[in-house]
Amino acid sequence: MVLRRERRTEACSGLTIINVENSLKLGGCPVCRAIRKSEEDSIKNILYEGVNDPQIRKGFRESLGLCPYHAWLFTEVARRPDVLDGLGSTIIYEDMLSEALEKMRTEELPQTLRNLKKCPLCRHAEEVEKNLVDDFIECFQEKPEILLAYEESNSILCLRHYLMVYEGLSTDSVRKELRRIQVNKVKNVLNMMEEYIRKADYRVKEEVTSEEALAWVKAVEVLKGYRNSLNMGCSSGNYLFKARRKRI
Ligand SMILES: [Zn+2]
Ligand SMILES: [Zn+2]
Repeated sequence: MVLRRERRTEACSGLTIINVENSLKLGGCPVCRAIRKSEEDSIKNILYEGVNDPQIRKGFRESLGLCPYHAWLFTEVARRPDVLDGLGSTIIYEDMLSEALEKMRTEELPQTLRNLKKCPLCRHAEEVEKNLVDDFIECFQEKPEILLAYEESNSILCLRHYLMVYEGLSTDSVRKELRRIQVNKVKNVLNMMEEYIRKADYRVKEEVTSEEALAWVKAVEVLKGYRNSLNMGCSSGNYLFKARRKRI
């Protein structure tokens, strides 16, 4: 889970640097993966201690049981062997379904469905993204060693988050350095895919490595981001518009 940022005395310090370093350990796009992790952690927290929390229940009621993406992620997480919470989920969704039934009886259902509020987990995911992108901008801007840590990690920013971070950087030399690193990372993925294709020729006797065999999945993550509500819910291309931001 991405931790709440604190008031800072020094740029790229404390929780900011911890958030960046932790997300670089997740593999794939560090921002996408941290959002997904945070979505799953939030669901676990709801199941462990939030079932009777009035604020949390209000968020569920106003969205009538979250958005479809998060409702299904909720069922997936709640049914995992390490979580297995049937009672908490039953209490929450019993409440949601009786609410829907009540509206059906009084003919208020169409109006209720038209006026659903935004899913609280979607709001949370947007906040995590905004904070973490800002953390990356700040750390890349202020600490060359963090840019080096990104270069040496297995992480690779997806196009959406590369663009958000890139456009947020205020120094041309840092932007240039990030672009160089990103181009090399993308080239690496492409090389692995080309190697797979080359070795598929029956005349070539070399074995395909597992990294080469799965490079195309990396390519999907680079192009479309990892599966989280921000990527799965938006229509193609919208993010380019959203990603445009003022330089700090
Ligand atoms: Zn991403
Ligand atoms: Zn949602």
